[in-house]
Amino acid sequence: MRYLVTGAAGFLGTNLCLRLLQSGHEVLGIDNMSSAYEPNLQMLRQNPLFSFEKHDIVNKLPHLGKFDFIYNLACPASPARYQRDPVQTFRTSVWGVWNVLQYALPCKTPIFHSSTSEIYGDPLEHPQKESYWGHVNPVGMRACYDEGKRAAETLLFDFSRKHSHPIKVVRIFNTYGPHMDPKDGRVVSNFIMQALEGKPISVYGDGTQTRSFCFVDDLMDAFLLVEKSASDPASPINLGNPDEYTLLQLIETIEQILKKKIKRKFLPLPADDPKQRRPDISIAQKIGWNPKVRLQEGLKKTIEHFKGLNAYSKR
Ligand code: UDP
Repeated sequence: MRYLVTGAAGFLGTNLCLRLLQSGHEVLGIDNMSSAYEPNLQMLRQNPLFSFEKHDIVNKLPHLGKFDFIYNLACPASPARYQRDPVQTFRTSVWGVWNVLQYALPCKTPIFHSSTSEIYGDPLEHPQKESYWGHVNPVGMRACYDEGKRAAETLLFDFSRKHSHPIKVVRIFNTYGPHMDPKDGRVVSNFIMQALEGKPISVYGDGTQTRSFCFVDDLMDAFLLVEKSASDPASPINLGNPDEYTLLQLIETIEQILKKKIKRKFLPLPADDPKQRRPDISIAQKIGWNPKVRLQEGLKKTIEHFKGLNAYSKR
């Protein structure tokens, strides 16, 4: 098959491209490289089945030929990065989806779109089911991403109803693993890098807020299952690992793996930071998905990957 992957040089894009290429598919990746990780792209480019076009999906897509399937993963996803240029983040979510839809429409190419658990905001319902409408501050610092992704879902579902266009929309919860940018600012990469560098760990707030961490290989299994699932779902699908941890528990797990005690540095909690997050994955389970990798095992693999990059000694 021939795939188009937007955001190909990002964390999820890279893992997905690797999976598709390993199965012998042809992949054309596009990325504007604003929050991509350059070594990922260098690695992907070594595969002759991979080609690359530097392009920002905020702008109309150039002619790239016909595809059997499109994965739309382009958008900065780390709060630190998506808040750097909030207007661009919103435009990437909404204009970007519009441009991908326009490209896909003439050949009715199916689109898989990466939405996010952030559309639930700081949730008042726990765990979060797809039927929960969320609790989002529409004008806060996180809104460019949360509301951008919400508007993108609206656009996708309306477009699909109007044109009978095949779409699959997944809401991705916190994911970690190899090929993350060690400097992307998210909690898992920050904590691991700080621990490896012997720096105090930066805990925002008191560390009692929770997240549910999914290892990227599990998430990729889910992507491929959703892609192959027979019918277009009437609803977006939550994808995440329901095992929920406080940030303090996350630090303790890293300490156990590294067999050392790490200092904590408590910093102010950013505005609108969700207090808890855990997916209800009943819909994903119905198509046969269950995450398998436990936090300790996934973190070990991620730590090994970061050590291999040697990035921590070069920063
Ligand atoms: N966080 C933290 N220290 C860091 C980075 C993040 O304590 O160095 C916290 C952040 O405030 C949030 C949680 O970890 O409560 C997860 O943050 P992340 O940026 O990974 O993504 P989010 O789940 O908030 O979208």
